[in-house]
Amino acid sequence: MRTTIPAHLLPTDGRFGSGPSKARPEQLARVADAASPMGTSHRQAPVKNLVGQIRAQLTELFHLPEGYEVMLGNGGASLVWDAIAFTAVESRAQAAVFGEFSAKAAHAVGRVPWAEVDIQSAEPGRLARCVDRGEENDAVDTYFYPQNETSTGVFSPVTRYGRSRGSHQHPGALTLVDATSSAGGVTVDISQTDLYYFSPQKCFGADGGLWIAVASPAAIERIERLGSTRWVPDILNLELALRNSRKDQTLNTPSIANLLLIAEQTEWMLSSGGLDAMAERTAASSALIYEWAENRPEATPFVANAADRSPVVATIDFDESVDTRTISAFLRENGIVDIDPYRSLGRNQFRFGTFPNVEPDEVAALLTCIDWAIEHM
Ligand SMILES: *Cc1c(COP(=O)(O)O)cnc(C)c1O
Repeated sequence: MRTTIPAHLLPTDGRFGSGPSKARPEQLARVADAASPMGTSHRQAPVKNLVGQIRAQLTELFHLPEGYEVMLGNGGASLVWDAIAFTAVESRAQAAVFGEFSAKAAHAVGRVPWAEVDIQSAEPGRLARCVDRGEENDAVDTYFYPQNETSTGVFSPVTRYGRSRGSHQHPGALTLVDATSSAGGVTVDISQTDLYYFSPQKCFGADGGLWIAVASPAAIERIERLGSTRWVPDILNLELALRNSRKDQTLNTPSIANLLLIAEQTEWMLSSGGLDAMAERTAASSALIYEWAENRPEATPFVANAADRSPVVATIDFDESVDTRTISAFLRENGIVDIDPYRSLGRNQFRFGTFPNVEPDEVAALLTCIDWAIEHM
């Protein structure tokens, strides 16, 4: 069929993916600006100042407690999983697994010969949480889980595990949080985490290939100790990453364009009201989607427990009367892209990224277009 959605119904920008996701025009302009340090050395002041600016802005954005530091390096969040296995986990870890990304993280850590991973898991669409083993003899030294499971749209509270107050028996358990698709789009109490890490191509609307992490003093102690006593490939050594970050550098050459995209976004987040404002916006956008789904008889939010529904990645199942694949392909022809479910989930589903760069009005237009497509196909 060769119909097109009436132009006045379309959103201004058709990018609703869960990462890479919509970059604002101001971000792209920053890269193209003749005054940008594109094409110059990352060991010289213009790029080092840019890294320094990002570190300072993130310190402010996340209200970092005393002693926490911002680190960064190349390789994205997937690399951090391996880096954690090498320079954060001593020998016993526990992972909450409730989707593809958390499963991959647990797999990466479980593969190294010195670490055992105890897995707390739940079916896709449900939340699994870690279980505190702080007082036992075989105490877990590292707990890790995602804040937002991007493959299913399940959102986890961020709390610390294994460091029960008043006991100095096992003071060292670390809590590591994969915040790749949530950092910047939701509020967080960083003091509940030891490593809060993310890639910038989701809420920050920047590009892939880089990772950023906020590390607590306890994490820094662990990283420095393991990174200097274990044999660790340089690129996976968080101790080297930390040393470079303190000098506003990265171990190897970063994408300068990406740094510019991140700096512009962080500036915008801060000047727009910080994390509270971003969280308000993503909550408003995702609420439109969940309400829309509750009101369409063929649709159901995939995440049954409303309290576990993500404000930044909304997943909506349809019954067989609506063919989401055909509709997604049709919308793509009309410039609305990337609303397909996570590849391996294999459901009749739409998955929408409602990151801060997507305005609630644009989400409303998107839903109108889907309604139009269902009606006309
Ligand atoms: C996207 C994503 C990743 C992977 O990020 P890369 O930058 O591709 O390594 C990891 N964890 C979560 C929760 C994600 O959403």
